[in-house]
Amino acid sequence: MGLSENVRHIETDVLIIGGGVAGMMAAVGCRRSGVRPVLMTKATYPSGSSSMARGGHTAAFGHSHPDDKPEFLYEDSVQAAYDLCNLRLMRVMSHEAIDRTIELDAWGLGLVWLKDGRYHQKPSASHRYDRLLHCGKLMGKPLMNSLFKKMKEWDFETTAHVMFVDLMKEGGRVVGA
Ligand SMILES: Cc1cc2nc3c(=O)[nH]c(=O)nc-3n(C[C@H](O)[C@H](O)[C@H](O)COP(=O)(O)OP(=O)(O)OC[C@H]3O[C@@H](n4cnc5c(N)ncnc54)[C@H](O)[C@@H]3O)c2cc1C
Repeated sequence: MGLSENVRHIETDVLIIGGGVAGMMAAVGCRRSGVRPVLMTKATYPSGSSSMARGGHTAAFGHSHPDDKPEFLYEDSVQAAYDLCNLRLMRVMSHEAIDRTIELDAWGLGLVWLKDGRYHQKPSASHRYDRLLHCGKLMGKPLMNSLFKKMKEWDFETTAHVMFVDLMKEGGRVVGA
């Protein structure tokens, strides 16, 4: 079989390359905007570092300390990153973490709750308050499984074992890969 017989042409408004948490959250954003993406990864679903994530993630729910707020999470995160981070993204992350966490937990993430209805938040390096949300076990698999379940539920095309080597550009715009 020649190379040309293996070539598959796909047209899509949004191509998401990568089947980790970044790719899947991009797909969640597409769903929110009413856009239908195509997801592709060189590995399988789920894959990447995301499946290996261990402890959990931070969000300023204020469940361990009533004074906590997203702006403090932003400040602590920027300081811990020695100003090497993208400040705009860090601000979005700090302020959206609460809503995204509630959403992910409703989709089956399985975060640990206290009996009084607050999340159990553990200490995490460089954070002034206990903010780490966790599953009581390694978080990568439940996180990726609940996201991948959503991709299937929304009938998003997810293709594995496709390795991208370049992006095609026209006039500074990406038009293909
Ligand atoms: C052991 C470990 C523990 C961690 N614990 C935590 C934690 O507790 N809390 C936390 O917040 N973070 C943790 N992290 C970090 C976190 O997992 C990563 O920051 C996050 O998963 C990155 O997500 P991502 O989607 O950007 O990348 P990845 O999950 O790595 O996904 C990248 C995807 O892109 C695909 N890909 C790459 N190149 C190509 C190509 N050329 N063509 C097609 N597909 C391609 C890969 O196959 C993969 O599917 C941990 C990381 C590790 C390794």
